[in-house]
Amino acid sequence: MKLAKEFVDSLNWPKSLFDETHNRCFCTDCYPSTWENLLLAVGSHYVIPRGWTRLGLHVDPMFKEEHNIWNKWIVTFHGTTKIAARSILTHRHFYLPGDKLIDGTILGIREGHIPNQKFIFTSPTIVYSSLSVYSSKNSFYSHVDRTNYEVQMVLQCRQQPGSFQVQGETVGARSIRICPYIPNEKIEYFTDIRSSIVAYGLLVRMKAKSGIL
Ligand SMILES: [Zn+2]
Repeated sequence: MKLAKEFVDSLNWPKSLFDETHNRCFCTDCYPSTWENLLLAVGSHYVIPRGWTRLGLHVDPMFKEEHNIWNKWIVTFHGTTKIAARSILTHRHFYLPGDKLIDGTILGIREGHIPNQKFIFTSPTIVYSSLSVYSSKNSFYSHVDRTNYEVQMVLQCRQQPGSFQVQGETVGARSIRICPYIPNEKIEYFTDIRSSIVAYGLLVRMKAKSGIL
């Protein structure tokens, strides 16, 4: 948690984006290997993001109340980049390809994906959302333990049931199973409704880079 916080502090995002009450660490010390891997939220399975640390995000009180998201919406993951995550959190909505991000750039459809599919993609498993085509890799040097890290970010979300469609993987995995819990045929959710997803956690995974600088 300490390391993840150091990374997030380095981003210099406004403090008001965060809500510590949703903080949770899923490392093997904090979430033992004997605990459940697959959980159910509102009748929909999602996979525990083992190895990731969640920095809680502030969710608008009106949104929580209006949609009763903790009791009515399912849990999904959305792999993203530093600038897209910041845009989503600051503007309080998800982006469709073609939308303008906070730095003025246009959100594109990732290379290799089906062209003209203008949707927001999520998944019930972080194994899929954290593939590098969705979740870009950032470099970070920790002054606390003087180590270089490769950092990825994924948003943990609540998503409105019935507002999205389910499809198979679109990363060319074919017969190679991506996640032990969610079959490849049901691993990608897509929607064109921006307001049907709300992020309540910024998940961070930090891998120490080996070798001398
Ligand atoms: Zn931990």
